[in-house]
Amino acid sequence: MSLSGGLWYYTDHLRPNQAAGIYDNVTSNDNKDRMAFGDFPMPDDYPTYLTHDRYYEYLTSYAKHFDLLRHIQCNQTVTKVRQTKDYITTGQWEVFTRATDGGKEEQHVFDAVCICSGAFTRGRIPDLPELADFKGENVTIALWWIQNLLHSIDISVVYEQ
Ligand SMILES: Cc1cc2nc3c(=O)[nH]c(=O)nc-3n(C[C@H](O)[C@H](O)[C@H](O)COP(=O)(O)OP(=O)(O)OC[C@H]3O[C@@H](n4cnc5c(N)ncnc54)[C@H](O)[C@@H]3O)c2cc1C
Repeated sequence: MSLSGGLWYYTDHLRPNQAAGIYDNVTSNDNKDRMAFGDFPMPDDYPTYLTHDRYYEYLTSYAKHFDLLRHIQCNQTVTKVRQTKDYITTGQWEVFTRATDGGKEEQHVFDAVCICSGAFTRGRIPDLPELADFKGENVTIALWWIQNLLHSIDISVVYEQ
């Protein structure tokens, strides 16, 4: 079972629901004090800028410290979220999930829902007319690092704000 940690849980392949990720030698571009939760400072012996395994270790220790792991179900895809039929009186939500390795869809009811699916979950290829004539392969940054294309071919980077 993979633990929580979102994109900071590093694997050398894309996981379900993942289109971007950190690469093996990534170092945080913000310092450890700004990346720490206010109620759980980073250990003194951590470097100022963190490797991904250190930040993942920090996130995991946060979850353990506040006993959050028992509330987290990993390897589940949220397939649908909608208001319950009696939402007007209960304010509740129906959340549908399916195990990432398949299986039956399951239904849960919650009082509140936070959608935290990540800003980098879906890759996007810009809709540029010039790309129609481009003979190479168009990939998002996630596939770029996964396939290690940097080491093997000439690349052109298109950055869209
Ligand atoms: C290369 C890179 C470097 C970065 N460096 C820094 C840094 O140095 N400092 C910094 O503060 N931030 C950095 N970031 C930003 C990063 O997005 C945040 O640090 C942080 O991971 C965001 O947390 P999150 O929970 O919003 O999203 P994520 O960590 O992306 O977590 C979202 C989770 O939701 C899951 N998910 C999505 N859809 C579904 C679904 N339908 N069902 C179930 N699960 C789903 C995803 O699989 C993922 O596990 C970096 C990002 C990248 C890509």
